[in-house]
Amino acid sequence: MQDILAEIERLKKKRKAIILAHNYQPPEVQDIADFAADSLELARYSMDIDAEVIVLCGVRFMAEMTHILNPEKIVLLPDEGAGCPLADSITPEDVRRLREEYPDAIFLAYVNTSAAVKAECDICYTSANILEVIGKLPADRRLVVLPDRHLASWAKRNTGRDIIIWQGECPVHQAIREEDVLRVKKEHPDSAVMVHPECKEEVIRWAELVGGTGKMLRFAKESDYQSYIVGTERDMCHRLKREVPQKIFLPANREAVCEDMKKINLEKVLRSLQTLTYKIELEEHIRERARKTIERMFSL
Ligand code: SF4
Repeated sequence: MQDILAEIERLKKKRKAIILAHNYQPPEVQDIADFAADSLELARYSMDIDAEVIVLCGVRFMAEMTHILNPEKIVLLPDEGAGCPLADSITPEDVRRLREEYPDAIFLAYVNTSAAVKAECDICYTSANILEVIGKLPADRRLVVLPDRHLASWAKRNTGRDIIIWQGECPVHQAIREEDVLRVKKEHPDSAVMVHPECKEEVIRWAELVGGTGKMLRFAKESDYQSYIVGTERDMCHRLKREVPQKIFLPANREAVCEDMKKINLEKVLRSLQTLTYKIELEEHIRERARKTIERMFSL
């Protein structure tokens, strides 16, 4: 173990590399990262760093986004097969077909989509900023919010906008049930419930806070609650415990594990630095159009 850590450090210096990790990464990967955060924070951070190589410990759409924003840097995904079933639930052809059906609508692509899908859409959003993004769009326009049905429904309930919903879902958040939250709440009645908006409505309605992982972290730091029931991927609790060690964090469902996020481990991070794999490459016309979709979000 010590050998792997020392070798990762040595190669990071040699390659002028930075390691970024999403909040759902295995704890040992989060702990060696230079920066651990949610998708939006990772994307923003990647644009400000002085590095030649970025090892993105997350899933493919995150690595693609990092590459789109940093075309001059080498972006590596340590496991080529780390994908996302939610992102895979929609294709560029699906978006083109929807465009024909709703020609006047504004198309919003979740960060959890492929670069090719982003290229077909008008503006990007994340779970952290979806309500703000929608709030800045013309009130008289219909919106197509892709691809998570629970997140889009939550946005529809909270904004009252005319929203077309795609039927994609994240299997990890789908697995968190109302009875899971109620069971943990019964055992720890003074806990606050924090849930991700990709959860089902019957789960969301018990929450003191609905938001992405960055928002959960801020709530844990700033609120007076001492204990939290966390309705998202299990290893978010590791991040929360590391940042707010004096408080208690309880997963709503210990089985809520993203198998794709767990494909990455220290050995694969080391191999990635040794061999410069797996390099993210996109066709230029896709990269350029997807970049515009992402930049429209940043410009709001
Ligand atoms: S947690 Fe869900 S949305 Fe996130 S990467 Fe895993 S499958 Fe995709």
